[in-house]
Amino acid sequence: MAKLHLITYGCQMNEYDSERVAGLLKRDQYELCDRPEDADVILLNTCAIREKAEDKVFSQLGALKGLKKTRPDLVIGVMGCMAQLQQGRIQERAPYVDLVFGSPAIARVGELVARVRRGERQVLDTAEGALVKIIAKPEGVSRLKAFVTVMEGCEKHCTFCVVPVTRGRERSHPPAVVIDEIRGLAAAGCREVTLLGQTVNAYGRDLDPPLDLAALLEQVNEVDGIDRIRFTTSNPYNLTSRLIRAIRDVPKVVEYLHLPVQSGSDRMLERMHRGYTTQRYLELIDELKSTVPDIALSTDIIVGFPGETDADFADTVDVVERVAYDNAFVFRYSRRPGTPAADMADQVPDAVKAERNAALLAVTTRTAAARSQRLAGRVVPVLVDGASRKDPREASGRTRCNRVVNFEGHGRALIGSVVPVRITDVLPHSLRGALTETDDAARVECDGVAGAAE
Ligand code: SAM
Repeated sequence: MAKLHLITYGCQMNEYDSERVAGLLKRDQYELCDRPEDADVILLNTCAIREKAEDKVFSQLGALKGLKKTRPDLVIGVMGCMAQLQQGRIQERAPYVDLVFGSPAIARVGELVARVRRGERQVLDTAEGALVKIIAKPEGVSRLKAFVTVMEGCEKHCTFCVVPVTRGRERSHPPAVVIDEIRGLAAAGCREVTLLGQTVNAYGRDLDPPLDLAALLEQVNEVDGIDRIRFTTSNPYNLTSRLIRAIRDVPKVVEYLHLPVQSGSDRMLERMHRGYTTQRYLELIDELKSTVPDIALSTDIIVGFPGETDADFADTVDVVERVAYDNAFVFRYSRRPGTPAADMADQVPDAVKAERNAALLAVTTRTAAARSQRLAGRVVPVLVDGASRKDPREASGRTRCNRVVNFEGHGRALIGSVVPVRITDVLPHSLRGALTETDDAARVECDGVAGAAE
């Protein structure tokens, strides 16, 4: 069998795509290998969201150049968002790259690699393609948790973002196709699925008949074997009361929402073309907190967007303090080719971005730590997924709100089960707990009825 080495950068959707590529190439007799030195084909699945992500790919390509020199038959390919954004420029800068293809061409990966192996050089395929659901997976991939892409593309056109360029227009996979995939995953032992879409809460508008994410969640809830359902990423603009109620009412949907705010300044939100104001965002947060008590919230924030003043930044800090996120991802604004914000005149100096980044991280770390304290002493349901990284004798798993919990498993084979754990210590990056008996009180909290405990 020929050998394939895959290097994946970026978001969960890329992880999902890489798995499909490995699955498709397995049909053409390629098996995965861990070391680039052993590979016949090396594919880099790339991210273009920030310049830094692209730099990493070019430096990895530089590292592979020597290998290609000693083994000219080695096929090096670049796929994913950067391929779509940079197109021919990748092969200009790294002429030893044989193949460049975007995500719409994933279904054709076997044919593209075969063309290169037949001697064609500098193969490029960044054309839009029909929406196809690829469910091929490499062997041995049977896991407790899986990503499931439910829609591709984005039509929000935020002025900072390349996604509409790299992933095209919004297209949803029909519910029957999604459910089929999830049934297959459950049959292979999967207990938790994360439904993926760039604006996942816009799911289904393009289907005939249309439906919404809440309806899809209800259908996924019916799949036997699945215990937990997550979904990401939601956009505040499309967040409906119906979806908020679904988080409360659909039992397997966890009490957790990632809701990128991007900025706490209305002026910035308008320039970003986000389609909501700070007041509207905070109203949504209030509705989430009152409908789903104890919901955990996380967010994305960009600092140093063009024109951001100290006062705008102070507004962002204010929103972070008010929402008290469980987790926040802070990004320094990165100029992306082809996006409107890249051409805005009032770009913020790097040093200011770095300062605001550090200042905001200090706030988000403090608020997140304070939020974690509410878990101390509670009994929470933990889906056990392996051994603790620090101490392999201990069991490790995640709460419904995705916090890592390590605990003494007393030698029991717990992997794959959901067990009640009392939280004894709240640490900066994880929780420690003790396995409890499933008495009635614990069970109520564990089922999320009385507690939605995390
Ligand atoms: N589609 C989602 C949305 O609009 O909320 C998020 C997708 S993006 C992969 C993840 C995060 O990267 C965004 O929420 C944003 O905070 C950040 N991001 C996107 N473009 C950026 C840029 N040009 N510079 C810095 N951060 C950026």
